[in-house]
Amino acid sequence: MEYFNPQAGIRPTVLATDLDGTFIPLPGNTDNQAALVELTAQFRSPGRKLIFATGRHFESVVEAMRDIPLPEPDWMICDVGSRIMQQQDGSWQELATYREHLHELTGGIARGEVEAALAGIEGLSLQVPEHQTELKVSYQCESAYLEPILAEVATRLEQMPYTRMGSLDPFLNCGLIDVMPGPVSKAYALLWLATHASAAPDAIIYAGDSGNDLAALAAGFRAIVVANASSGLAGKVAVLQQERGIPADHLYQAQSEASSGVLEGCRHYGLF
Ligand SMILES: [Mg+2]
Repeated sequence: MEYFNPQAGIRPTVLATDLDGTFIPLPGNTDNQAALVELTAQFRSPGRKLIFATGRHFESVVEAMRDIPLPEPDWMICDVGSRIMQQQDGSWQELATYREHLHELTGGIARGEVEAALAGIEGLSLQVPEHQTELKVSYQCESAYLEPILAEVATRLEQMPYTRMGSLDPFLNCGLIDVMPGPVSKAYALLWLATHASAAPDAIIYAGDSGNDLAALAAGFRAIVVANASSGLAGKVAVLQQERGIPADHLYQAQSEASSGVLEGCRHYGLF
């Protein structure tokens, strides 16, 4: 399922949010820091749920929670949607049913075969080992070549049950490409979680800032695009939402950046 058509009149109770450039304050931004304090307080109250949806791996999220610090979420979607973590008896556990589901989506084709298929594309290199998982093959390239390289990756993956997603990393100023089984994305994981963990998708707000958030922003959730988002992202969300018959009031372009934009959007939608 790529998207759903939201029912009217359902009150939002859940914030699912990207971390870097979105929920996490921008470096040195005191407004963002104050907004994060406010968001943290809001999510302490029962009846509201928080989901992180990030390209980071689990250990890196835990580090951010401790160092920044971030509030404790109810679930984490890590590795751009290829892993879901949930709290169980006071510790974080991977949702095994989701992992099994992704293994089925690979059709038995392991990451080694993906790497072999994409070997030799000029300008494309694998990211560091910490960013690699069994179910996510991550590459980087110069930001200027992201689009042509993505097209070449798509061509080479045509016969494989894998998909690719590109985004620009504004902090490292490079292009990031993730290759994952089937239609997996943050949106896919979030829709899967919503349908398997009884959080109605209609009650979810999604906040993001870059290309790997596009699928989730246009999936039918109430979308918040923060002011520091990649240029053109909000426009792409609007086009997809319209094509899919998602009401225009499901897109909010925040005036403020990162954490402040998330807070502004949550207030706009009436979550707080
Ligand atoms: Mg981001």
